[in-house]
Amino acid sequence: MIGPDPFFEPGLAAYLNYCVGFCLRYFAVLGGIYWFFHLGFRRSWLPYRIQASAPSRGEVAHEIRWSMYSMLTTGVTTMLLYGLIRNGDTSLYLSVEDRGWPYLLLSIALGIAGYDAWIYWQHRLMHTSWCFRHIHSVHHAVTNPTPFAAFCRHPIEALTEHAYFFLLLVLVPVHPLAMLAIVGFFFVYGIVGHLGFEFCPQGFTRHPLFQWINTSTHHNMHHTREACHFGNWFNHWDRMMGTIHPECHETFGAVTTRRAAMRRPPLEAAAPAPMRRAPAEPPGEAQEAGAVCAPAGAAHEARVQRPVGSLGSQPSPRGTAARA
Ligand SMILES: [Zn+2]
Ligand SMILES: [Zn+2]
Repeated sequence: MIGPDPFFEPGLAAYLNYCVGFCLRYFAVLGGIYWFFHLGFRRSWLPYRIQASAPSRGEVAHEIRWSMYSMLTTGVTTMLLYGLIRNGDTSLYLSVEDRGWPYLLLSIALGIAGYDAWIYWQHRLMHTSWCFRHIHSVHHAVTNPTPFAAFCRHPIEALTEHAYFFLLLVLVPVHPLAMLAIVGFFFVYGIVGHLGFEFCPQGFTRHPLFQWINTSTHHNMHHTREACHFGNWFNHWDRMMGTIHPECHETFGAVTTRRAAMRRPPLEAAAPAPMRRAPAEPPGEAQEAGAVCAPAGAAHEARVQRPVGSLGSQPSPRGTAARA
């Protein structure tokens, strides 16, 4: 436990510092990834794309705009956390030697497991009718996400996510390094989940060990079919609560099979030019991608969200259509 420290001095300067730091990370890291996959080397990554179509500019603008609104809110909660830390009202400790490295590693594991559980249930709450209509629809206005969507959420939703860190810091002794690792872990998944491209190998979702990890396709399915895959990094909560999509393996398999087919060199490569196959992005395969994980389309704008209570153990694979 620590007392007043100049590093955690809340105030306007610290708030502006938080916002500038957020923007730098947001536009440098997420913007860089977006440029790399969607603009600079777009054609190289076509086989890896989960959905056939590219995200629209309107969706990208929506993702950035609401991420900025969210940042303004989380800046305030961060200042509140600073205040608690300065007053010595948290269990934060600054010297690793106080508790040792094994404890620090354990606190990281606990922090990640706790946040994963928090996000699952917070996300389920967001999918109840009222919360979805008034809050979470901001995130689901995007059906073909890009990394910019990692922080695209209603400010109230951002508050409910940040509430976890108040509990963690008050209840569990954590070192700033552990906090950094926990936050960084979920920052990375925000990117992975909204990447829009699948890089995991075929069979990943059926592997005895890796099947517990959510892939980009898992969260992409959440954006296109909604009533499934509420988990963050891991899917044990989805499995326990029956919110894994029944076509999860098939969808992932179709995405990775199509990817392998598109990357396969044309057999006719050595044949005379007139006999060569069309370029490695035949329209038919691109359309297949759309069939694998197609966006809900314009209907999502007028959707009425299904309450979580109606999920049952077999979420509807056409949940969005059913709501439209
Ligand atoms: Zn959702
Ligand atoms: Zn999302």
